[in-house]
Amino acid sequence: MADNTTCSIQEALVWATERLATAGCETPRLDAEILLCECAGVERAYLLAHGNDAVPTDAWPQFQAWVARREKREPVAYITGHREFYGLDFVVTPAVLVPRPETEHLVDEVLALARARYRANQTILIADVGTGSGAIAVALAAHLPHAQVCALDASREALEVAWRNADKHGVLGRMCLVQSDLLEHLPWSVDILVANLPYVADEEWPALAPEIRFHEPAHALRGGANGLDLIRRLLGQAPAHLRPGGAVVLEIGAGQAAGVRRAAQAAFPDAHIRVAQDYAGLDRVVVVQTP
Ligand code: GLN
Repeated sequence: MADNTTCSIQEALVWATERLATAGCETPRLDAEILLCECAGVERAYLLAHGNDAVPTDAWPQFQAWVARREKREPVAYITGHREFYGLDFVVTPAVLVPRPETEHLVDEVLALARARYRANQTILIADVGTGSGAIAVALAAHLPHAQVCALDASREALEVAWRNADKHGVLGRMCLVQSDLLEHLPWSVDILVANLPYVADEEWPALAPEIRFHEPAHALRGGANGLDLIRRLLGQAPAHLRPGGAVVLEIGAGQAAGVRRAAQAAFPDAHIRVAQDYAGLDRVVVVQTP
């Protein structure tokens, strides 16, 4: 099969799906389809409708190389170089975490808050702490035309990816990108602090998928012994950087709501604190609303 340059789309998918399944990939057929689409420059619907057509000869060597990478459990998004998040397509490199669907809840909460608390044409200042690919910051800027969004990250490589995504989606003019350890170099106080910080606890780390452990940046995932090191530090810094009536919106891991709630209450004794769940019913977002 490997040297057959005239196999059909269907045969190529069956071949790749088998290899990826054997390698332990969770969604081997879907992964194979996405990789083949990218190599052939077609949509998934095309693959399904043209299963008997030959795989374009120029797509075949790349498809084989990509399946081999995926077999080593490299995330699909690193192979293709992009991932959809909140309806937008984001450039993704191994310097940044692959944007996850559960993080869309974080964006939902910030948009709901912005629309409930601020007039439509009012300038809202937002900081996205640990922006990574910029997915959260760019999605917010794209949906809030009067927001100014500061994207912060300790990693220069991550900020370069975030810059490309802000540029790609036409929101660079309302964003600033700042290399910063949490809020250290945040240039102004903001109305909303949003963050998907590293929160994986040490004991959870060995159980994570190889895609995560061996390919994604650990410094973007690991939050110390109980996972809350960075969230706690951020909450400690937050009161000095939040405007009156401002809010802090944090992504958390399952089982962390009580600990984060306590830390938030200590930082903001008068705040109203709410926990929202993801589609799996797991606690996923903590919203700290100051009076
Ligand atoms: N939800 C992610 C995971 O389990 C963790 C994201 C994070 O640490 N911010 O892979």
